[in-house]
This record gives sequence, structure tokens and C-alpha cells, in this order.
Amino acid sequence: MPGPSFITIKEAHVERRECLKVIGATAVTAALPLEATLKGTARPAPGGPGSIRTEVKRLKLRHTWTTTMSSSEYRDTLFVYYTRDGLTGVGEGAPIVRYNEDAVGGQKVVDGLADLFATADPASFDKLNAEILRRVEGQWAAKAAMDIAILDWVGQRLGTPIHRLFGLDPADAPLTTFSIGIDTPEITRQKVREAEAYPVLKVKVGLATDEPTIEAVRSVTKKPLRVDANEGWTNKEEALRKIQWLETQGVEMIEQPLPAAMLEETRWLRDRVNIPIFADEACLHAADIPKLADAYDGVNVKLDKAGGILQGYRMILIARALGLKTMLGCMVSSSVSVTAAAQLSPLVDFADLDGNLLIGNDPYQGVTVKDGKLILPTTPGLGVRPTSV
Ligand code: MG
Repeated sequence: MPGPSFITIKEAHVERRECLKVIGATAVTAALPLEATLKGTARPAPGGPGSIRTEVKRLKLRHTWTTTMSSSEYRDTLFVYYTRDGLTGVGEGAPIVRYNEDAVGGQKVVDGLADLFATADPASFDKLNAEILRRVEGQWAAKAAMDIAILDWVGQRLGTPIHRLFGLDPADAPLTTFSIGIDTPEITRQKVREAEAYPVLKVKVGLATDEPTIEAVRSVTKKPLRVDANEGWTNKEEALRKIQWLETQGVEMIEQPLPAAMLEETRWLRDRVNIPIFADEACLHAADIPKLADAYDGVNVKLDKAGGILQGYRMILIARALGLKTMLGCMVSSSVSVTAAAQLSPLVDFADLDGNLLIGNDPYQGVTVKDGKLILPTTPGLGVRPTSV
């Protein structure tokens, strides 16, 4: 496993030689290795200018994906590539229609920040993140893609997996659920059989078909179930009836049973059910969490909502400090975004990181799953590589 924060002597010599070649011997003292910069012992290494490239990729779903919100055959996500000093970091964000985001809109935002990335010091990734937050309103998926690309670059530069930058032990990574979208009972049974390798399933509910859906799942498996209503029940009495029935079906938690705005009703519901209620659509950013603390038992953190790894990390720490349980979720996305979320997974109680498993043309490989447990890459940075290589 790579060391925590050291480049090799050979790399240092190469870097020094490149610096001498590029910027001249008089400036070499400003080009100390990045880890020295991080320790505050030197000014930021100027290196070459950073550059950013964007691409919208169309990810094809294995099955038509239906939730209470939409039904689709594919999803377009935004990829960001940050290149500097011969290294390229990759990031991805999955735009969320509910928040009026789309991949092309996000792409324009990132392309408009080329000047910032040309001069920014990636080692100060917190400062860079704050500057992006200051300049860009909304566009959280694009922010996530940028943050992931920068942290991938920093991790590669330091020879360190991202989870180690955050002091996390990959052995603590939790099980992940495998999600079953809303479908006919026949297709639902087929999806459950395909998910044989996953010890816990997450089933999408929230429509009139909830009971046939759960019965179809239960006709094939006895595994623990988690359910996600995606705000699909619109009155608290209906939600209470549904959850009390789900409790008899081996369901161990429920996500977003009522619309995000129905905080009072969710508090009422929480007092009457026995399984934990998690906020997803009600919990977008760190500032949302304190007001949720007495209405929900936990929060579902997604990098695409939060704006990346750094903001997701803050959300998890704030939720934990308030006594909430934590979960990492994802959108339908490739292994880039899912692996980025997995880098923080040793911190959380639950993981639902399967967006890459739902698509048939994943352009990258990264985190894997063994007996349901997330296995984090040990290679530097994000630890993803293109599928075709
Ligand atoms: Mg959800």
C-alpha cells in the first residue's frame, strides 16, 4: 500500500529537473514538493498551469429505472478532467433534475472557470472549493465533479488514496445495498434474483404498487430490506399505514417517506414507527442538517447534492455530531462518482453505493463489492482507471 504522503526520491529528482528546465534555476526554491507545501514549509509549488476539460457521457441503464420522480433508459452525467504537471484527476457529477440541473448546464459552468483552474493551487483544495462555492450558484453536480477531480489529482500527486487523506481505514467500509427500481412484479423478481450477491436490498416504493412490489421481492428473498419512498406519500396517515405494514415485511429503514417540506409531519410520523427514518431530498447541504435532527433518525449524503467529497465529509461530521445516523448514497452514475463516495464510506453507518452497477457501459473501474462489502481501491487518488485499458 502506498505511504501516506511521500513522493519517491526519483520523482522528486524528475520534478526538480523539470522545474529547472521549465522555469529556470532561480525559481527552483519555490517548486518544492507538494507535501512540503501541505506542511506549510514552503510556498505553493507553481508547477505548470492547471487546465480543465469537460465531457458529458451518456450512461445506459441495464433496466429502465423508475422511481416516484421519473422513468429513464439512460442518464447523462458530467465528467471533469483536471490536468497539471503531467497528472490528470477525474471527477463526475450526476445532475439532479429535481434541483433544475442538467449535464450541459453544469458543463458550461465548469468551462467558465478555466481561469481559476489555470492559476489555483490544488494543494489548498479547501480554499479552491470555497472559491468555487463563492463564484457558482447551484450546480451542485458540477461542483462535485470539480472537487472529485481536484482531490483525485492531489491524491495522485501525494501517492495517497483519498480515504487516507481523510484519515479513514478502508477496513471500516460498510456493506452496500443494491437498489431495485419500481417495476412490474415479474421484472422485480428478476431484478432481485440478479442481485443475489448483495445481502441487503433497497427497494423503491412510493407509488400505488408498493404492496405488490414488496410481495414480489419477498417471494424471492428473505434478505433485509431498506425502502425509499422518494417523497411519494403525501399524507402522514398514509405514510404511517404503509410503514407499519413494511415493518411486518422485514424492512429495517425507510428513506424520505414524506415530501421534504413536511418536516412537522415527519416528526409526527417518527414518533409512531419503529424503524429509522432517513432524510434524502430534505437534506441537501450541511446547513440543512440541524433542523432535521429531531424529525429524522439519519441523513443520506450524496456527493452530487453536497457538491463533492469535501462538502460530503462536512455533512457526515455535522450529522454525527447531532446524533444522527449517516448514509452515503449516489445517483445513477459511473464508477468515478461512486468510487468518490466510497472513499468516505468508512465514516458512515449505511451505504447505498450502487449507481455504477445499474449501468451497462461504465467507462471506469474503481470500487468493487465483495459479499456486499465495499472494497476501496488502494491506488493513489480516486483509484479509478478507464474500463477499456
Ligand atoms: Mg433516496
